[in-house]
Amino acid sequence: MDTHTAYCSACDQQVRIALTPVPLHGGQATLPDAPEVVCLDFGERCTGKFCPMFGLPRVMMGVRLARSELRTDGWTTVRGYCEGCEKVTELDVVNGNHAFCPTCQTTTQFAVLTLDDGKYVVVGNTTGDARP
Ligand SMILES: [Zn+2]
Repeated sequence: MDTHTAYCSACDQQVRIALTPVPLHGGQATLPDAPEVVCLDFGERCTGKFCPMFGLPRVMMGVRLARSELRTDGWTTVRGYCEGCEKVTELDVVNGNHAFCPTCQTTTQFAVLTLDDGKYVVVGNTTGDARP
């Protein structure tokens, strides 16, 4: 993997930048044709709505990184219902209220509800489609 470092003004530190691999077989609608730039240090330090390095909404950088599967140090995951898979699965937490399903590549907006016995449930609804 081709990794570079660059200074991020939001995190006030050097971050690792990588290019996603170009797909070997073109023509798949779900994969980008050109490499995408991702920040490997995306995470809880990133505050604010936008990633200043790429001018992307923060959640987009998270989804891009999750989709690239370049993240090596693990994601916080939640167990929740994915409408894309139509089953309960482990979702990568992209930020406080968005999670990404690595199986079907759906981004889900979720909320964690803590029950009175201390258990919690995750409720979500997918974004990126026309349903309300
Ligand atoms: Zn899914």
